[in-house]
Amino acid sequence: MRVAVISDIHANLHALEAVLAAIEDEAPDAVWCLGDLVGYGPRPNRCCSAVAARASVSLCGNHDLGVLGEIDLEDFAPDAAQAAEWTRTVLSDDARTYLEGLSPKARADGVELFHGSPRDPVWDYVLSGEAAFDALELTSDPLVLVGHSHVPLAIVLAGDDLAGGLAPGGAEVDLAAGRWLLNPGSVGQPRDGDARAAWLLLDLPRGTASFRRVEYPIDRTQAEILERGLPEALAARLADGV
Ligand code: ZN
Repeated sequence: MRVAVISDIHANLHALEAVLAAIEDEAPDAVWCLGDLVGYGPRPNRCCSAVAARASVSLCGNHDLGVLGEIDLEDFAPDAAQAAEWTRTVLSDDARTYLEGLSPKARADGVELFHGSPRDPVWDYVLSGEAAFDALELTSDPLVLVGHSHVPLAIVLAGDDLAGGLAPGGAEVDLAAGRWLLNPGSVGQPRDGDARAAWLLLDLPRGTASFRRVEYPIDRTQAEILERGLPEALAARLADGV
């Protein structure tokens, strides 16, 4: 079973289309999505329909729940809240129905999946060794997948020893020894200083994980953000991958 893992698309259709094209080239058996399909970006409906068509496991994230009104936008940074409010005004019935059917956690093929973390699948960020240790302590499967931070990570717990960290594009990980926590990074708003869209290819029988990056037309997404009157900072940050 080979699985492409995507996360944090954030209504960036051009990034999503580039990633889905790269995924098709690999012809995996399944696509899993770790949530935040919408929020920040300009193309929420097309992103929801594309994920709905392709992903066999799909989670919701804090931005999806904020747009649905299931969590309070007062908990969001101002730019994120403004984008979520705008998304509410354009969200199609189909996209809303799709997002309403998603949970922030799931389990598939012996893998535990969370948008945030096992401690708090909606809001908790796994960005420190301590948080990764907690996430692996609170789970039991050999492989745990998280999104939410927009930073690709590969962290392993072998006995009491924690190792690993940032996983740049091109990183390959052997999953055979220890229990692993992986974050594929973000399709639509990377924050590790690499502006290219991120995704992850898992080969579960072989026990390998391959961190991938793909170029996309950032300027087209930026233009759409500005056309829709969304905060300029949300366009600017895409060029820097922050
Ligand atoms: Zn996100």
